[in-house]
Formats: sequence, C-alpha cells, structure tokens
Amino acid sequence: MNADLTALAAWLDTQLDDEHADRQTICEDVSARLLQLAAGPQQDHGLLQLTAEQRDVLGQVLADAVTYRDPSGACTGCDASPAGLCADHAEDLDKTDLYLALARHLAIEVDR
Ligand SMILES: [Zn+2]
Repeated sequence: MNADLTALAAWLDTQLDDEHADRQTICEDVSARLLQLAAGPQQDHGLLQLTAEQRDVLGQVLADAVTYRDPSGACTGCDASPAGLCADHAEDLDKTDLYLALARHLAIEVDR
C-alpha cells in the first residue's frame, strides 16, 4: 500500500477512536487529504528540484527583494511613530520576514 494512504488510514483510526470527534469534520478532512493525494506531489517538490544554479539565482532574487523592502533611510512616518516604524514600513518588514521564511523553507541561502 502507498505510504501516504497508510498514514491516512492510521490518522483516520486515531480520529475514530475519539468518540467526541465530529464525524462530519473527519469526513471532510479525509476527503481533502484524498484529493491532495490524488493531485500528486505538492508544488514545492518542483521548487526543491531546482538545479544548484537555479537555487543560486533564486537566492539572489530573494536577497534583492529583501534589500528592496528593507526599511532604511529617512522616513518622517517612521520618525513620528512611537514604534519607530510607520505602517508602510512595518508592512515591508513583514514581507521581508515572509521572503526569508520562504528561503529557509527551500533551504536557500540569502546573502544580505
Ligand atoms: Zn516609514
């Protein structure tokens, strides 16, 4: 049996052992997981199969994006804010975090 299906069956067993678990929710979860399995490998498998060169390029792209979003330089909004960051630059910083999280997920090094 396919390892993913075995894992799903094991998970289903644990759900059914819980008498308080909601049957409807379990069925919806199982349906979603089956659809996921039927759809094949997750998208990020494709990304993880990048060549070393492509990973380097992606690292550069992310580094550029991080540099672009890096809140630095004079901003009257930031100066006026008690937190030291205006709303726009706080948003930029959040995006930077997302870029770096994606890089970590893909095990890609980002030079900063
Ligand atoms: Zn600002």
